[in-house]
Amino acid sequence: MMKLTVLGSGTGFPSAKRGGPGYLIETGRVSLLMDLGSGTLAKLHGLGVSLEQVGPILITHLHPDHVAELVSLLFALKNILFARREPLCFMGCRGLAALLQKLQAAHGEWIRPTEFPVEVDEMSAEMRQVGDLSIAAFPVEHTAGSVGFRVREASGAVLAYSGDTDFCPALIDLVRGADLAVLECSFPDEKKCAGHLTPREAAQVASRGGVRRLVLSHFYPECEGVDLIAQCRPFFTGEVILAHDLLELTL
Ligand SMILES: [Zn+2]
Ligand SMILES: [Zn+2]
Repeated sequence: MMKLTVLGSGTGFPSAKRGGPGYLIETGRVSLLMDLGSGTLAKLHGLGVSLEQVGPILITHLHPDHVAELVSLLFALKNILFARREPLCFMGCRGLAALLQKLQAAHGEWIRPTEFPVEVDEMSAEMRQVGDLSIAAFPVEHTAGSVGFRVREASGAVLAYSGDTDFCPALIDLVRGADLAVLECSFPDEKKCAGHLTPREAAQVASRGGVRRLVLSHFYPECEGVDLIAQCRPFFTGEVILAHDLLELTL
């Protein structure tokens, strides 16, 4: 069984009810994170997930809303209350290693673990096996090097996460046959912004990819009060779920 918990359904825009992008996938063997937006660590703590256990940490791209808590995570792990010894692996977009190096150059020893190694695995279109999960990265259309992730459990259940992206053919492959697809939905149809999806586009991706359940997330304030599900409805007949912080779904 694979459980998804939405840690943050918002963006970089401050919101009292939506944290920055962050998703937890748990299988019993693995506690994997996707993106590390503002508020992610507090949410994890509230759920009782220790920073000693989490990993790998998958990063879709380097926009600040998706990497906001990299420094906070590494600094927190310096605290003696955490006795982490397992390597901490960051996986994902191109440029991740360089970003970590620059952050460590700025903060020095405060964010340089001594008790465990930090590993960085920049993926473009390869597959990795982590415990009972296989993880594939799919380049998407957002910033150079941006990827989405397709996570498959040993039982065959598939969860796809778009990260930030505009409509692109790779997105159809990313979500193909997924039991659950978490697609960004930054703005409503009438406020389309290049580099991001609208409800209509997310629904079309889900439909063309044969997705079973569609979760919309990554909502800018323009989405609040808009009937996003109604905008999806003509284009996707499956279940559409609007993400909120701490939403839990099992597959
Ligand atoms: Zn974003
Ligand atoms: Zn972005």
